[in-house]
Amino acid sequence: MPDFKQPTPKPKPFYCGAYWHLWRRGLAHSIYNLMGAVTQGGEREFYATQATVARYFGAHEQSVAKEFRWLRKCGWIEFAATKSHFRWISHESWAEARPKDTEGDCLECAQRKLLPWELNPDPLVGELHAISGGKLRVYERRVAGLRRLAKQAAPLAHFPEPDKEICFLFAREIAEAQGMRDRGQFGGTGPGACLWRVEAIFRDRNTKLFAKRASLAELQEQIERSSP
Ligand SMILES: [Zn+2]
Repeated sequence: MPDFKQPTPKPKPFYCGAYWHLWRRGLAHSIYNLMGAVTQGGEREFYATQATVARYFGAHEQSVAKEFRWLRKCGWIEFAATKSHFRWISHESWAEARPKDTEGDCLECAQRKLLPWELNPDPLVGELHAISGGKLRVYERRVAGLRRLAKQAAPLAHFPEPDKEICFLFAREIAEAQGMRDRGQFGGTGPGACLWRVEAIFRDRNTKLFAKRASLAELQEQIERSSP
């Protein structure tokens, strides 16, 4: 039966920027933005005094000096040839100089490069993705269909919650597929094929349930026919 639920809108990924790192520190963020604007994105050195910056913001000179030190300690600005001049560091250069993960992304940056199957609001999508070691790429619609099948087959389930049983069966299929690959058999060992076999298990259960119900109905009919 079709349901007329609207598909979940896919969020537009947010990429990282200096604003993500600096929002908690308002004055430092503003000084960094001012320096970026004045130096045209780091094309020239920043040589205004901290007293001028303090006057511009109407802030205490000590506070401004503190934020300059903090920005320098965190690598957002650095001394130029003389200590009264500063170089402004763009977010890209800043991230470039930081430790990276295995995919070459900065570990300190907002991890926003999420794929649709990771952005998915259905927790089962994420669980299946994790069980497959990050290899299964599945959309919410297919998972919802699988859950429907599992719910229909509930009288034959070994778990009270369909999601738990789906995860259990999928983990079992993934483990068996790994065993097959270890023996040099690669056919049908992909995570998609594993999920398809889980679907087949539920379809099989539903077929059995349907046959059982049909024969019960037949029996019922026979009893009714033979009763006076
Ligand atoms: Zn960042």
